[in-house]
Amino acid sequence: MNIFYYDIAIGLPIRSCFTYKSVAHIKKGTRVIVPFGKKVVIGIVVSKISQHSSFHKSVAIKEIISTTEESVCFDKSIFKTILWAADYYHHPIGEVFFSFMPTLLRKQSNKIIAPLGESSEYDINKSDKNFKLTKEQESNLIKLKRIKNFKPSLIYGVTGSGKTEIYLQLAEKLIQEKKSVLILVPEINLTPQLVSRFKNRFSGDIGVYHSRLTPNQRFKVWLRSKFGEIRIVIGTRSSVLMPLKNLGAIIVDEEHDQSYKQSEGFRFSGRDLAIKRAQLEDIPIFLGSATPSLQTLKLVKEKKYKKFDLLRRIDGKKPPKLIPLDINDSPLVGGLALQTLTIIGETIKKGEQVLIFINRRGFAPLYECDNCGWVAECGECESNLVFHKSKNKLICHKCESVYPINKECPDCSSKEINLYGSGTERVEEVLENAFSKVPIIRVDYDSTRRKGSMEEIYKKANNSEEAILVGTQMLSKGHDFPKVTLCVILNADSGLISPEINALEKISQQLIQVSGRAGRNNNLAKVIIQTRYPDDINLKQIKTGDYQLVADQCLSVNKNLSLPPYSSICILRTTSPNSKNCLDFLNRASLTLDNRKGVGIIGPLPSIPFKIKGNIRSHLVIKSSNKAYLNRILKFLIKEFETWPESKKVKWSFDVDPYDMS
Ligand SMILES: [Zn+2]
Ligand SMILES: [Zn+2]
Repeated sequence: MNIFYYDIAIGLPIRSCFTYKSVAHIKKGTRVIVPFGKKVVIGIVVSKISQHSSFHKSVAIKEIISTTEESVCFDKSIFKTILWAADYYHHPIGEVFFSFMPTLLRKQSNKIIAPLGESSEYDINKSDKNFKLTKEQESNLIKLKRIKNFKPSLIYGVTGSGKTEIYLQLAEKLIQEKKSVLILVPEINLTPQLVSRFKNRFSGDIGVYHSRLTPNQRFKVWLRSKFGEIRIVIGTRSSVLMPLKNLGAIIVDEEHDQSYKQSEGFRFSGRDLAIKRAQLEDIPIFLGSATPSLQTLKLVKEKKYKKFDLLRRIDGKKPPKLIPLDINDSPLVGGLALQTLTIIGETIKKGEQVLIFINRRGFAPLYECDNCGWVAECGECESNLVFHKSKNKLICHKCESVYPINKECPDCSSKEINLYGSGTERVEEVLENAFSKVPIIRVDYDSTRRKGSMEEIYKKANNSEEAILVGTQMLSKGHDFPKVTLCVILNADSGLISPEINALEKISQQLIQVSGRAGRNNNLAKVIIQTRYPDDINLKQIKTGDYQLVADQCLSVNKNLSLPPYSSICILRTTSPNSKNCLDFLNRASLTLDNRKGVGIIGPLPSIPFKIKGNIRSHLVIKSSNKAYLNRILKFLIKEFETWPESKKVKWSFDVDPYDMS
């Protein structure tokens, strides 16, 4: 009897595969049950090894207990994308496989991969198309529909230019060709609006996939998509490798958005993985944004991507004016200047809506003793506690630990404890006092955690005449609030003066995205930016509202300084309860790369925050002008780490193409 040997990936933070044997022919990408130590676990077949190798006879190789089903879990192109991702991000291969497997398939259970038999048919609802496309939409659609193979397209559409209609018509074409389509959005909160647009257009089921669904719901969508029972799926980055049958194209909405990057564990970019998948499947990929990433714009300049412009709004209205408001001599009430309050009042009087953007949730970010200067901090993180009035508690925004408020200062027993700074709750309170008859709608992490809360917020805003929305960056993304004619941005300064290398890109994207929320139906819409730096050179450029102009400048600066996207960066991150352990490890890594041609090293640096949940965090920035070379350097480092005593004392990880540099 022939015996075959297989390399199997296990869902653990281990960088290598394990060899098992079996008499069965098993395809790559299949789930198998294997003994592992004293346990029995699920693994994925990564490769079949030549049986003539003498190595296998010399060691005791365990036998695969069973294969779980007939169907492979990961089809060829998805399988290949995963291998690419594990290599590119230098993440343990088993964890990468497990990241793209429904939770219910990760453990042994009675769940198997088989069709559910709930096929959906798709008809196009003609009454949803009772309007004329703009000339721009029409001419771009003709060109976009012609794209057959892998050739990434950037749909650069200013807010209100009708990008979603383009997505809908591209999806229509694919559905008519009996293909399927995957649409990615950066945040869960953006799914309901897009899903309802697709439901109005198509009669069949629209699959929705994100982390807030139950494991059962996700498993069902995954199975139906794998067996072609649904052909339209809308989801967040976790759905990028959704096994859609006969996939015709991938659409990545708001491709610049930082939420596509996973910030913990397997730190991949959903957008970049989508591009890789499209390349391996040789299908078109459409990247949409009003404020495209520098990376994408660079590739357009290099003619690797094609750009399609939608520069006019479908309502023919002009984009809103961005007006910096100098607050140097203004007293602020909960972060709002008096002039701002006056303009808000005028807008409401006209029965219109106002959107206030403040990038901080809670009531006040500083809870401080006026007598001795004591500040409430999280015991586990190096982070100030934020006072939440709605809960009457102090909350750490790093670890979400909740603390009671102090009756007196723990250091000097003074009762003079005060609140400084503003968050969404304080702005909400100021507005409630100033405009008692107007509905004030708060949109932040705390008010949108519950399922369906975002839908309720839309309803409330749509059913009101005058109203004020107060929210964090959540509000700046893709949402439609057609009655908003005034946007107010409260804390743009921290972005304008930030020393971070991609700060200008981030703040200009944010300001232009927020401004896009205003004036969908009004020529007189305004965006007010409260600032202490009204003459800031960057603000002057952003003020023009011309993102392309700002982006071109960012690109030329980054090119001169050899910063991304003109170089590649990886951050070597470490945590340990002991700061010396981090430093010893990072210093040795830095020494190892010292004097190497083509690599730049910055650090070791303390990360921000320096401490989370009792662990010290530090990092080293590794930079190279060549992506492939950087990849080789990182591989070399991993080999080195295996032999160092220093690496046993820290938890380390690579963050390739980091979005957050601290
Ligand atoms: Zn005190
Ligand atoms: Zn904390």
